[in-house]
Amino acid sequence: MPHVITQSCCSDGSCVYACPVNCIHPTPDEPGFATAEMLYVDPDACVDCGACVSACPVGAIVPDTKLVAEQLPFIELNAAFYPDRQGKKLPPTSKLAPVPPAPEIQRHGMPLTVAIVGSGPAAMYAADELLTQHGVRVNVFEKLPTPYGLVRAGVAPDHQHTKQVTRLFDRIADQPGFQFFLNVTIGKHLSHAELLAHHHAVLYAVGAPNDRRLEIEGMDRPGVHTATELVAWYNGHPDFTDLPVDLSAQRVVIIGNGNVALDVARILTADPDDLAGTDIADHALAALRESKVREVVIAARRGPADSAFTLPELIGLTAHRLVVLDAADRDLVTADLAGEHDALTRNKLDILATLGDAAEPAPAGAHRIRLAYRLTPARVIGDDAVTAVEFVRTGTDEVCRVDAGLLATSIGYHGKAVADLPFDAAAGVVPNDDGRVTGAPGSYVAGWIKRGPTGFIGTNKTCAQHTVHQLVEDFNAGVLTDPAESRGALERLVAQRQPELVDLHGWHAINAAEIARGDGIRPRDKFTRVNAMLAVAAMAPRPTLRDKLRAALRV
Ligand code: NAP
Repeated sequence: MPHVITQSCCSDGSCVYACPVNCIHPTPDEPGFATAEMLYVDPDACVDCGACVSACPVGAIVPDTKLVAEQLPFIELNAAFYPDRQGKKLPPTSKLAPVPPAPEIQRHGMPLTVAIVGSGPAAMYAADELLTQHGVRVNVFEKLPTPYGLVRAGVAPDHQHTKQVTRLFDRIADQPGFQFFLNVTIGKHLSHAELLAHHHAVLYAVGAPNDRRLEIEGMDRPGVHTATELVAWYNGHPDFTDLPVDLSAQRVVIIGNGNVALDVARILTADPDDLAGTDIADHALAALRESKVREVVIAARRGPADSAFTLPELIGLTAHRLVVLDAADRDLVTADLAGEHDALTRNKLDILATLGDAAEPAPAGAHRIRLAYRLTPARVIGDDAVTAVEFVRTGTDEVCRVDAGLLATSIGYHGKAVADLPFDAAAGVVPNDDGRVTGAPGSYVAGWIKRGPTGFIGTNKTCAQHTVHQLVEDFNAGVLTDPAESRGALERLVAQRQPELVDLHGWHAINAAEIARGDGIRPRDKFTRVNAMLAVAAMAPRPTLRDKLRAALRV
């Protein structure tokens, strides 16, 4: 089999359109694309041209001859998506996946100008889609001095392949018509009404920054964290630099078993020397070097067949960590295996059935992760700090106590209300019709604030494209009001409200300085204080008048 899609697949579909024989599925127009855990190469149709390798923004596609040992299960995983043709190659075809048409601007006069709030994947994919049209201007507002949202502050540092998508985002940000307004908070420095006055439309791609809260006794104890806090802490998000993370106990419990729980468990059980070659925050690396944690228990309230983590992430976890089950959980896996399941679930159960036995002592000093099932969280025990977590076996009255010095809840994210827009507090989203905000003309949403906190980086590409299509349709129909103020007026207003504005040049300076601090050993050594970022951005060479004229002519 020539090419194989591996763990870091972001599902943005770039490979699908690059493939000359349409052998990567599901394609964005096929059912199942929105919920697919990854994309798959058809081994019998692949012509081994490598076009997909160049198109993939996260380096997830590898020729079979170059797979490393832990990637070998992905050969079978790709093939299993397709009917078994018993090794017979499909005849070559020149069929291409249907490329969705770009949102064509048909209205002449004042060029479309859009404010995007947020700079994560949904924001950057939306900007890219808008900039396919000549003359469009996109202004991206971000409250931090650094862009790219969860790719910078959410993706685990040991998943550097996934972080490579920032190279694509850098190229999008360098396009004519794109402007960064970093270190600017909408709702503080500028209001929604002010953004609307300076643009035809405002598109919010602000994600889902809050955690779902676990309502059990004892959640206010020191040593209880949300996964979001821990993830932001080890990723160097400046708001979490000083989070007190106590790793002095031998065991950590994580509640919830989605991919975020797996990320946190992997980082807490990693060899610090391996992490030293990543962009993990210095303070987190120092804490992990002193860590006494030897076991992380990932506790799910349902059974093995309902595990929330995806199959590629389970494969990655078991390849790099000692993962164990206790006897009762092994029985649950065996019982689930006797039932009917879709292919992905069966594959997960097959892997779970091969895990080590928690009763066997781990080698001295070794780290391990225990997957635990049917544990409904009941209360946190401890006076000054967490000492244990009490669960009830789901569906029974049996109480079960797990000793631990740190508890992380990883039970999903939740969106936060956006000032001046309607909000569905239960779902944590801004109510919308495929991106058009309900009852708020000129306002649009994309990403997690539009559809809720599910999916992968690339899922946001199709999501953002749909929103942009609605926006352009409204622009063409003359529904959007022309901005009352000029571009210069917007720049003056922002500079007046936020003198410490960081622009593209400022970001380039921060980026270059972080890479230089990495000293060739790490991809970057992140600044974790806003002041340090601003000091570097302030030193960025300012564009000359000639640069400005050249940029204006490129639009
Ligand atoms: P998630 O996949 O929705 O998992 C949430 C977990 O919390 C589930 O196990 C859920 O159990 C549990 N839970 C919810 N409420 C609970 C409660 N009251 N008590 C106990 N357990 C509770 O969320 P996530 O891990 O935050 O991930 C969010 C999205 O980001 C997912 O789509 C994920 O795939 C994606 N992501 C992907 C990657 C990657 O590809 N590497 C990395 C990180 C995140 P039930 O199933 O029983 O509700």
